[in-house]
Amino acid sequence: MSGMPTRRDIVMKTVPALAMAGALSIAGPLMAADNAGHHLAPGGEDAFRDGQYALPPLPYGYDALEPHIDAETMHLHHDKHHQAYVTNLNKTVKELADLDAAGAPPAASVLTGLEEDLSFNAAGHLLHTLFWKIMGPNAGGEPQGELADAITRSFGSIPAFRTRFAAVAGGVKGSGWAILAYEPLAERLLILQVKQHDLQLSPWMEPILALDVWEHAYYLKYKNVRGEYIKEWWNVVNWREVNEAFRNARFRYGRG
Ligand code: MN
Repeated sequence: MSGMPTRRDIVMKTVPALAMAGALSIAGPLMAADNAGHHLAPGGEDAFRDGQYALPPLPYGYDALEPHIDAETMHLHHDKHHQAYVTNLNKTVKELADLDAAGAPPAASVLTGLEEDLSFNAAGHLLHTLFWKIMGPNAGGEPQGELADAITRSFGSIPAFRTRFAAVAGGVKGSGWAILAYEPLAERLLILQVKQHDLQLSPWMEPILALDVWEHAYYLKYKNVRGEYIKEWWNVVNWREVNEAFRNARFRYGRG
């Protein structure tokens, strides 16, 4: 193993100027490669402040998505539901750290419970952060530019994508999401049907568009008619932000 080049060796060899300038922090988190300020995960600094996961403020008013999504739903969804994921994520991370500090190995069931909480709340926090960001007032319409091209390449056409995405969202059994994700190996887009917040997600597939179909997202206004909510939701999709998420995802994998 000692003959194997380390990551640092490779980077120092390939980009010595950058390494010497200290522009690359090999020891630091990989996500820190944020030289232009817009390559962090969706929500960026707003979703993590002062050493804690944090509820990012809505980027628009609670009533801004009316009539498609009502203000009361937005209040409850953002201030109560999303806040709960943030609170529980911080709590879980602290409990795991406390276990580490205690030194003694925890009971397997305790650890498994905390791991479930970690997965659920972390995914809940990040997906909701993306969800608020890719919606907006005076939105809707059609995707443009490189995103439109990628959707067409991946699904045949934009109408075919919409039909498939709506069917995936409509078909979620119980609580979950439909997610449009960037897959960096084939450089294509895939639609994922996620249960709860974190089941049936795959590593490396970066969500760039997410539709929450938990009942808390629509029940006040649409009752049991999820299909109507999905149909109306297209009117609040901010394709400019989706395109930005797409560009950032490609950048993170060195494709953009
Ligand atoms: Mn939700």
